[in-house]
Amino acid sequence: MTSPSQVEEALAGGRLTIDLAALQANWRAMREASGDAATAAVVKSDGYGLGIEPVARALQAAGCGTFFVALPDEGRRVREAIGEAEIFVLAGLTGDNARAYRHAGLAPVLNSSNDVAVWARLAREAETPLPCALHIDTGMNRLGLTPAEADDLAADAAALAALAPTLVMSHLACADEPDHPLNGEQLARFKAAARQFPGVRRSLANSAGVFLGADFHFDLTRPGIALYGGECVVGMPAHTQPVATLEGRILQVREAKRAESVGYGATHVLDRDSRIAVVGVGYGDGYPRAASGSGVPMSTAGSGAVGAIGGHRAPVLGRVSMDLTAFDVTDVPEPVLEKAEWVELIGRTIPVDEAARAAGTIGYELLTHLGRRYVRHYVGDTKNGN
Ligand SMILES: *Cc1c(COP(=O)(O)O)cnc(C)c1O
Repeated sequence: MTSPSQVEEALAGGRLTIDLAALQANWRAMREASGDAATAAVVKSDGYGLGIEPVARALQAAGCGTFFVALPDEGRRVREAIGEAEIFVLAGLTGDNARAYRHAGLAPVLNSSNDVAVWARLAREAETPLPCALHIDTGMNRLGLTPAEADDLAADAAALAALAPTLVMSHLACADEPDHPLNGEQLARFKAAARQFPGVRRSLANSAGVFLGADFHFDLTRPGIALYGGECVVGMPAHTQPVATLEGRILQVREAKRAESVGYGATHVLDRDSRIAVVGVGYGDGYPRAASGSGVPMSTAGSGAVGAIGGHRAPVLGRVSMDLTAFDVTDVPEPVLEKAEWVELIGRTIPVDEAARAAGTIGYELLTHLGRRYVRHYVGDTKNGN
C-alpha cells in the first residue's frame, strides 16, 4: 500500500467510484436521442453530486460544448476547469453581479424584465452584445419572463439589438409524465413565444423532454440526470448506464439470535438467527435515515433500502445511524461474505433510483446529497471521448 489514494481508501468508511467513461457514453446516447439538435450538459449542484470539475472535463472531452449550471459560482468553476465552452447560468442576475458574470465569462439566463434591462445596459456600455439566454416561463411559475413580458421585449427593437440573445429557452414541468397535458400546452406556448425571436437558437427539453419526441428537441437539448445514469421518465428504468457506485466498508460481521433487536430504538426485531454486516456509512454521508429498515415510523415510503454483496441482496436492518448502517447478510453465501470488504449501496445491483425510492425520494436527491467523507475514485479513459 503505497499510493496516496490507496492510503486514503484504507482510511475511509465509504468508497464512491465515478465512471467517467460511462458518463461520456451517456452523453453520446443523449446526443443520439436528441436527433438533429445539439446536446448540452447540465452540471449544476456539483455535477449532480459527482464532482463538477471532473464531470465537466469528461463531457468536454466527449464533445460537449455547452454547459448549464444553477449558480454563477458553479459557472466560474466550470470555466476554470475547461476553458473554452458556452456556460449558461440558470439563476440569472441577482443584486449587482452582472459585471461579475461578464468578468467570469458567463452567460446569464435572463429570467425577468429587470434581468433583461440590466444585461442590455451592460451590453450597451460594452458596445457589443454579451452572450445570454432568454428564459420564458411557459407554465411552471418558477423562473422566466411571462409570455407577455417576452412579447414586450420582442417589440422593443432597441433592447433586442443591444442584447442579441444567443438562446431562447423554457423548462417543462411534467416531462417525466409523457401523457401529461401540460407538455403539449408548454410546447405550444414556447413555439409561439420563441417565434418572435427569429434566428435565435431554441431549447426546451431536459432529459425526460428528449424522450417526448422530435417536436420537443428544437436546436439544443439540456439533459442532466440521464447523463448520470438516473431515471428520468416515471415508471421507466433508466435510459442510460450507471455512473456512480457507492460502497460502504464492512466494519464487522456479527451473529445475532432470533428475537434480538438491531440498532437505535430497537425498531427491528429479528425473526430468525441472523448474520449482520455493520457498514461504515450512515446519514452523515447522505445515506438517508428515511431508508431505514422496517419498523421505523418516519419511513412511510417503503420497507427500507437494500445493499448488495457480490450481486447478493442484503436488506437494511433497523435505523440508519449517523455513521453506521446494518445489513442482513444471512442469505449471502459464506464464501462470498468471507471475502467481502464492501457492501454496494448504489451501483449495478442497486440502481440509484431503487435506493432513492426506498427512502421516499428520487435519484436526483440521493446523488446531490452524496457526502463528503467518501474516498472518491474517478475511473474511465476520458481522453478517448469520441
Ligand atoms: C435541472 C434542469 C435541467 C436538467 O434536468 P434533468 O431532469 O436533470 O435532465 C434542464 N433545464 C433546466 C432549466 C433545469 O433546471
